[in-house]
Amino acid sequence: MTQSLAKHTGSHSRKEAKDIHRVEINYRGIFQKRLGYNISHDIVYAAHSEGKTAFSNGRYSDDPQRNGIPCANFAFVSKSLGEEELEAIASAKMDVDEADLVLVLDDTLAKGLEPWGHYGIRPINQKVVEGSTILFVSRRKPEELKKLLEKKPFKYNLAVLPGDRSFAGLWYYRDDNSDIRFLGAVARIAPQVLDIETVVNYVRNKYKDEKRVEAAKEAFDSVVINEVTPDDGMVWPYEKPVLPAWQDFDEGIVVKSVKRGFKMGPRGQNRNPDFKRGTSKTQRPVVRFDTCIKCTLCWYDCPDECFDPTPDGLFDINYEYCTGCGRCAQVCPVNDCIVMVDELKFDNTKSPWEQYTKNPEQYVRVMEEKKGLTREVPSPVTGKGEQFIELKSSVPFKAKGVK
Ligand code: SF4
Ligand code: SF4
Repeated sequence: MTQSLAKHTGSHSRKEAKDIHRVEINYRGIFQKRLGYNISHDIVYAAHSEGKTAFSNGRYSDDPQRNGIPCANFAFVSKSLGEEELEAIASAKMDVDEADLVLVLDDTLAKGLEPWGHYGIRPINQKVVEGSTILFVSRRKPEELKKLLEKKPFKYNLAVLPGDRSFAGLWYYRDDNSDIRFLGAVARIAPQVLDIETVVNYVRNKYKDEKRVEAAKEAFDSVVINEVTPDDGMVWPYEKPVLPAWQDFDEGIVVKSVKRGFKMGPRGQNRNPDFKRGTSKTQRPVVRFDTCIKCTLCWYDCPDECFDPTPDGLFDINYEYCTGCGRCAQVCPVNDCIVMVDELKFDNTKSPWEQYTKNPEQYVRVMEEKKGLTREVPSPVTGKGEQFIELKSSVPFKAKGVK
């Protein structure tokens, strides 16, 4: 195991620590809460079924959860340690410094993670170690995902389980075999945690349903594994959050107030600099400023107050605070004026209004390329899945002054 864990475990030997496999399961708060729980729980119970010791927990700093906010569970598996020994070593901290296997249940988490209430963005691959694996469920090629990761000075693996992210809601679990597919994928990339025979037997005994067994096997076979080298990725551009230890907290409750302030234009409203939440979103709203009728509804209805009024009567969006809830797109009365678009298609959080005012026609062309012609129709019941429609063409650019 790791020097850092050994450091925190005091009297426990390095040999004991080496026999712990640490799995970090990254998911989106609320939408994937049950899925994240199922995967960590199943890893533990399947490992028990082959005589290993295992337990799981969640990251303390990310509770309470919120829609879309990046959260994590952990599972610890050991072949030789007893239950008390494993718990004593692995639960010494509520977060892990390093992980042997990182699972990512939504590929847009590759853009980074902002933990609840501690500003900073950490890379999704922060915990990987040499020789470890990070696994995404994704329709993207490994090369596309590699670019978004922080550069590391060693080699490790990036695996892709072909498929879509699975979202549900607080009251609804989308039972689409995603949890079982992840178990099959774990068996493929980390047989030391679970082997495929164990997964097959565990799924068969639990569900008595051969279709689910086939889902585990299909995932096992379909995982694509790619090596990540020190040349891959980027120098991480953000400050990384440092979570305070318990002895660093002030006595009592300290809630710092946000300085009041407002001026017209981008970033014109004062917002809490310690509570940005841009990495909560899988899709961002794209505004066609040229067709906007200035009705104010997006600004009025946004639950996170992300819109900034501009001098020309339009409404800019601050993507550092937008959670991607989609409310603005829902209330906008103009056809195709606000459309939710895959967050991985964007590489910055700059003001869209500033980009538009520099060159309106170019802004519209670039945004329409990102939007494409497929539009998602949100289901009225959370977690029931999405429907899509295909447009024949996009709304033409409307030059200023043209009715
Ligand atoms: S998607 Fe729209 S309504 Fe929702 S937080 Fe972002 S800007 Fe606000
Ligand atoms: S809701 Fe749509 S039309 Fe109304 S101000 Fe916002 S972008 Fe413009």
